[in-house]
Amino acid sequence: MPQPRATALRDLAMTPRPLRESDTAGDALRIFEGEPSLPLIAVVDDEGRPIGQIERHGFLLALAGQYGHAVFARRPVGMLMAADPWVMESDASLDDLAGISQKLGDTGGLGGVVLVKDGHYSGICPAAELWRHIVVDHALEASRNRAIAEALIERSPSLVAVREVNGGGFRLLNNAGAKVLGVAAEQLVGQPVNAALRAEGVRDLAEADRLLNAAPPSTECEFSFHRPSDGAERLLRFVRVPLDVPGDRPMFIDIGEDITEARHAHARIEQLAHYDSLTGLPNRSLFRERLDGALAAGNSGPNSGANSGPNSGKVAMLAIDIDRFKSVNDSLGHTAGDTLLREVASRLKSVLRAEDLAARLGGDEFAVLVQGAQADRAAQSIATRITQLLSEPFSLAGQTVHLGASVGIAVYPEDADDAGAVLRNAEIALCRAQAEGRGIWRRFDPAMQVEVLARRELECDLREALGRNELEAWFQPLLSLCDRRITGFEALMRWRHPTRGLVAPTDFIALAEEIGLIIPMGEWILEEACRVAATLPDEISIAVNVSAVQFRTPGLVSTVVRALSANRIPAHRLEIEVTESVLMDDQPLVFQTLRQLRDLGVRLALDDFGTGFASLAYLQRFPFDKIKIDRSFTVGLPGKQSSIAIISAVTALANQLGMITTAEGVESEDQLDMVTALGCTQGQGYLIGKPSPRPMEFLGAPRVVELRRAS
Ligand code: C2E
Ligand code: CA
Ligand code: CA
Repeated sequence: MPQPRATALRDLAMTPRPLRESDTAGDALRIFEGEPSLPLIAVVDDEGRPIGQIERHGFLLALAGQYGHAVFARRPVGMLMAADPWVMESDASLDDLAGISQKLGDTGGLGGVVLVKDGHYSGICPAAELWRHIVVDHALEASRNRAIAEALIERSPSLVAVREVNGGGFRLLNNAGAKVLGVAAEQLVGQPVNAALRAEGVRDLAEADRLLNAAPPSTECEFSFHRPSDGAERLLRFVRVPLDVPGDRPMFIDIGEDITEARHAHARIEQLAHYDSLTGLPNRSLFRERLDGALAAGNSGPNSGANSGPNSGKVAMLAIDIDRFKSVNDSLGHTAGDTLLREVASRLKSVLRAEDLAARLGGDEFAVLVQGAQADRAAQSIATRITQLLSEPFSLAGQTVHLGASVGIAVYPEDADDAGAVLRNAEIALCRAQAEGRGIWRRFDPAMQVEVLARRELECDLREALGRNELEAWFQPLLSLCDRRITGFEALMRWRHPTRGLVAPTDFIALAEEIGLIIPMGEWILEEACRVAATLPDEISIAVNVSAVQFRTPGLVSTVVRALSANRIPAHRLEIEVTESVLMDDQPLVFQTLRQLRDLGVRLALDDFGTGFASLAYLQRFPFDKIKIDRSFTVGLPGKQSSIAIISAVTALANQLGMITTAEGVESEDQLDMVTALGCTQGQGYLIGKPSPRPMEFLGAPRVVELRRAS
């Protein structure tokens, strides 16, 4: 009898690129997506030595969770990996099973082995490959390793089944196999296969068997079936390999895995990354991808002389904004707002042809992409239908609501010559439609640049605002939740415009940042906040919002020092609120400035926590004193489960990292009770107090301090 060749683990290896600890979960996702059968990825140190592993199944499930993609995609894999990977020499042979059996006890969901040569990463040996060879080389042969091989097969997380060909019976079905198939091993093993597979509840398997038999050996096939034990629909991936044991009947081995969850996880990640979860429409990033693709296709049309294809030449974009959405949303509440947006999305879809693409770019902004030689005319007729359809009343919980839509159109190549210009000019046309009374559509026209002039006017006014003393600092109280006392204020900027009246910061801060005015304005509010702080009791702190632009410009630290010393305010009374955007550009100056402020004794708060993409990751990068949990989470309280889950997770994390937490946007007693119960340290919101130019009035006002008892 010829001895089977001693297979080395390296012969079974896959060689995906390993990850470094600092690579992101997004990097891991791309590797897994490129290699559908890869069970794990090794994580290596700077010298290439394995220090951990990311196992496919668990990883995909983590990323597919409700907040998984947003929370993890940009986090370093070092935070997600399992340390202590199972490492073996790539030269080791399958006869070296002793090592495997030792380790087996503590590797529950073994996906594979990380291979090393001279201590350095050299590949991955998938467990499924391992089982296949163990069965072929060892299992049915009375070797010294037989007992170990049997134990391995029994404990393998993959299904392993051995069958005689031509309808002969099962010889073996391991534990995982019985679980995956939902059939007791005794029901199959030792039974004539026809009888076994035709039994009640296992008919799907007979069909699968037919599929497997028809496929060439060693090719993978997938099929779904209803699991007899509970009727659940499961998706399996199988490979069937022939097994020749001299002196025995010809057999084959099926090695399979239940990939139901993994497949769902994949679909969900795809969905989270590219689709808006509220309406199910493509999101901004997918829209941009499609726009780029359409322009590329449009470009190749005329150049290659093929002018008549569906993609030849023109691409039109409709930028759509829902009129009056904000006021409806504010007056009827967010749940009603969500329902409206879903209804808007479905009306939008109803006017489109199959080849057009609708997307939700964010908030109440939608967009449509139209391609083809007639794209400009098609876009105009679609715009007409959209404005008509969205002006029809919506009925919402017994109420009738009138909205409407304004639409701006830009057509490539006439109105814009690249994707950025298409987006910009559709937006400009939209502004014109809104300015002309809403409920209508306008196509971009170079003259519309005039509107850009109106913005310049605002810009000029803003440049004068400081010199004319039109800026005001208003103050909103912060309530300590354990003793229900006001312990500080947040300074919020207001602009008293000579003709427009009081302008809220949401209408001018972004502009001020764009044109650099935020630097002197930021200096002004720091100075003003400290001046007012000097008039308040010593134990009252003052928080000031500092924009990313200020952090990127040298001089912030000296401004702070000046404001503090001029008003004799100790540094610990000043709190600086920053948003993720400050940390996002990762400049050494930003971190240096944060550190210098901290060394001064100024306290630092991470603002609007949870609205960004990688909030958690930023907490790792800089030690903040406080987290301000964004208003969007408080809004859902007291009822919304996901808000509760997030807030309690954040407070637990903050506790662990020695930070305090402020719940923003507390508007009701119930919300105040809930954020207290969830472990927040402070509350802020209209219930406690609206921003006011006179902070002193909040102090010692028993109405506020006795909030709970009064109600
Ligand atoms: P923020 O830092 O998140 O400030 C809180 C905002 O939420 C304030 O709006 C406040 O009036 C509002 N708010 C507070 N409690 C409630 C509530 O219970 N319900 C609701 N619906 N809203 C509440 P405001 O004053 O319009 O400020 C908007 C944003 O403008 C601020 O958001 C901040 O990012 C920025 N901002 C304000 N002042 C300054 C400033 O001096 N410098 C810089 N760089 N940004 C500022
Ligand atoms: Ca703030
Ligand atoms: Ca905030």
